[in-house]
Amino acid sequence: MAQKINIVWFKRDLRLRDHLPLKKAVESNRALLLIYIFEPSLMDSPHADYRHWRFVAESIRDMNEILNKYGQKIQIMQGEVISLFRKIFEQYDVDTLFSHQETGLWLTYQRDMEVKKLLKRHNIKWMEYQGNAVIRGLKSRDTWDKKRMEFLSQEQQHPNLKRIKAFYLKPELRQPATERAWYGAAFEDHPMQQGGESSALEVLDSFLTERHPGYSKMISKPSESRSKGSRLSAHLAWGNLSIRQVEQARRQAYPSSKSGGDLLAFKSRLVWHCHFIQKLESEPEKEWKNMNPVYNQIRNEWNESHFKAWKEGITGYPLVDACMRCVTETGFLNFRMRSMLVSFLTHHLWLDWREGAKHLAQQFLDFEPGIHFSQFQMQAGTTGTNTIRIYNPVKQSKDHDPDAVFVKRWVPELRNLPAALATEPWKVNAFEELEYDFSYGVDYPKRIVDTQATYRYASKELWRIKKSAEAKMHANVILQKHTRNPGK
Ligand SMILES: Cc1cc2nc3c(=O)[nH]c(=O)nc-3n(C[C@H](O)[C@H](O)[C@H](O)COP(=O)(O)OP(=O)(O)OC[C@H]3O[C@@H](n4cnc5c(N)ncnc54)[C@H](O)[C@@H]3O)c2cc1C
Repeated sequence: MAQKINIVWFKRDLRLRDHLPLKKAVESNRALLLIYIFEPSLMDSPHADYRHWRFVAESIRDMNEILNKYGQKIQIMQGEVISLFRKIFEQYDVDTLFSHQETGLWLTYQRDMEVKKLLKRHNIKWMEYQGNAVIRGLKSRDTWDKKRMEFLSQEQQHPNLKRIKAFYLKPELRQPATERAWYGAAFEDHPMQQGGESSALEVLDSFLTERHPGYSKMISKPSESRSKGSRLSAHLAWGNLSIRQVEQARRQAYPSSKSGGDLLAFKSRLVWHCHFIQKLESEPEKEWKNMNPVYNQIRNEWNESHFKAWKEGITGYPLVDACMRCVTETGFLNFRMRSMLVSFLTHHLWLDWREGAKHLAQQFLDFEPGIHFSQFQMQAGTTGTNTIRIYNPVKQSKDHDPDAVFVKRWVPELRNLPAALATEPWKVNAFEELEYDFSYGVDYPKRIVDTQATYRYASKELWRIKKSAEAKMHANVILQKHTRNPGK
């Protein structure tokens, strides 16, 4: 009789602490196959980029350094989940698959439905555990706050790694070349945040002990937010830390903090994190469908050269260009600047949000589908329930980068200009062109649109639709589905 084994399937939960599926699997006392699968269909998806998979590889390397001490490791495979699982199920007697629930792309949602069918055919149980304060099958938003608080207050679920019973696949099923390749990726040099539970714990600790004073003011600033923001987003998105670990650490730090208000502002964002993922859990179509169908009638024309200028950071608006070039190189941008990029694309260029959402998903190291698609639709105004915000990139620059430090760092063509001209290079006169050795339209592109005119057009169109009876009717349905009933 073949030995019965259990499998722990790691997804966006790349940590060894507060990991209920791993804890339960260890307690099952069976030999465990710990596995991460790099899926070609996901890697080829228009929302994915190599930077994400390198972050995953770094996270696995970090976990394996710890697991090594216990004679265990996470086995790396590459291939489609269904075909790899099928091969494993044919060769081994698998009792249970342990994993976290995933609220991800439409692609992973469909894949998980196929996995469920396959497990059923092989008579294998699937123990899927809640990962965030996100409730699967939530009937009404009225009970969400209570359930969220309960989840965040529960004891952390640390597996006893000493008790893991190691299990390795037969050589013919292993993929040593794949493992070597991803281990190589995990040692690459790059200018982005490093994946892994160890880095995540350091970032959390430095934020709670040193970096948080001034948080509320600084997170809107493109430069200062890079050190004053918590910088936990990528670690949360890939599960190097659980939301519960972060919230409980915040609660512990709060009483002794001299900057409690900043930790309260941070707390709100941790609530938003799960709030938005819950929305995608309840409505996975948000990835590709306007939340409010009334907005299907707008932005139906495409302008590839405008889109290309936005993607490449050559729109002629210095802050827009600086933000895009920065996120492309570093994988990070603060909330306000992300909003401005989306506003520029959807309001000033009047282009559909979906192509932009793909492009920025590739750039954001912290790509988290639930937050990303909700924020895109909110900024694009396609929910019909949120305030219409059309950012003026020049005002944003003056408010949040008054000395043009960020602009000059990322748009070096403007480095020799004084701050005011680096913010509005179209105001350079002939004498200044000579003085600063700068030729407008040659050294730096002319503006591709006039934001005063585009503001007027977008504002008129969006308000016209928002005020319509049809938009209001759909907005009510959305509000009922995604917000709490204040009467309860
Ligand atoms: C168009 C657009 C797309 C976005 N896409 C993503 C994404 O793919 N992944 C992602 O993590 N964040 C996304 N955000 C939200 C936000 O910009 C980032 O979470 C934040 O900039 C990360 O900085 P930080 O790690 O310093 O977090 P902090 O600002 O310190 O916040 C703490 C944590 O709270 C969560 N959080 C912060 N702001 C928000 C928010 N507005 N909504 C929901 N959760 C929030 C994040 O997990 C974050 O790490 C997006 C925002 C916009 C406008």
